[in-house]
Amino acid sequence: MIKNKNAIVTGGTRGIGREIARTLAQNGANIAINYRNYSEEIEKLVEELKSFGVKVLAVKCDVSKEEEVSNFVKEVKNNFERIDILVNNAGITKDGLIIRMSEKDFNDVIDINLKGTFNTTKAVSAVMVKQRYGKIINISSVVGVTGNAGQCNYAASKAGVIGFSKSVARELAARNINVNVIAPGYINTDMTSVLPEKVKEEVLKTIPMKKIGDPKEVANLALFLSSNLSDYITGQVINVDGGMVML
Ligand code: NAP
Repeated sequence: MIKNKNAIVTGGTRGIGREIARTLAQNGANIAINYRNYSEEIEKLVEELKSFGVKVLAVKCDVSKEEEVSNFVKEVKNNFERIDILVNNAGITKDGLIIRMSEKDFNDVIDINLKGTFNTTKAVSAVMVKQRYGKIINISSVVGVTGNAGQCNYAASKAGVIGFSKSVARELAARNINVNVIAPGYINTDMTSVLPEKVKEEVLKTIPMKKIGDPKEVANLALFLSSNLSDYITGQVINVDGGMVML
């Protein structure tokens, strides 16, 4: 399905991104991930991914910095020659109610979640257009569709990712490039582990399947959207949320 394809997964060091990187590597894709601060954990992950018999590249890059992204993408292109798959997964939260939210907390979340997605998509789509082939998968959130009290910055960034993706899907469709969005619900990662128990219990009540999602469940959809099984699907937002949001 994706054997010998070349993939970039942003925010591949932890959580959902790491699971997507593992799943794509297990299925034969060469993987490039970025990191912000080097650690032994990254070295271990690189070795683990290589054990699937694929090429692995880890490059220091903050997705909110255009120049760093441009250099990251150049390095991937130089090493892999083609870039077939881009998963824009890097993201942060800086929660707070609107009346108390600082301009910095608003800007930081928009800069990484939305502008970061713009930076990588712009740099990679230039390569994909020349190849006449590409699969772009942007990780949004159900919160980008429903909104969430205490997350106006995050919800705005994730709603922005949806509008951005649909626009780019229309621009690139004729070049054989698919652009789709995954909107996870409540997934068990570092991002959600910091939530107070009471909040977790309340969220659980809103999930018809009565369980928190696993990063693997998001990675499985990313695999499908990375593969030729999704060739006639573009501009779509697909939830992975145990039925939390049904539109
Ligand atoms: P996570 O465990 O906190 O991991 C976030 C990843 O993004 C890390 O690899 C982090 O790298 C990277 N990152 C953050 N800022 C970055 C920057 N400026 N440049 C490059 N990389 C950066 O989060 P997660 O739960 O796996 O979330 C992954 C994505 O899914 C996010 O976009 C998130 O909004 C979305 N999502 C998550 C949930 C959920 O329930 N967990 C639900 C809906 C949507 P470092 O290791 O350097 O910090």
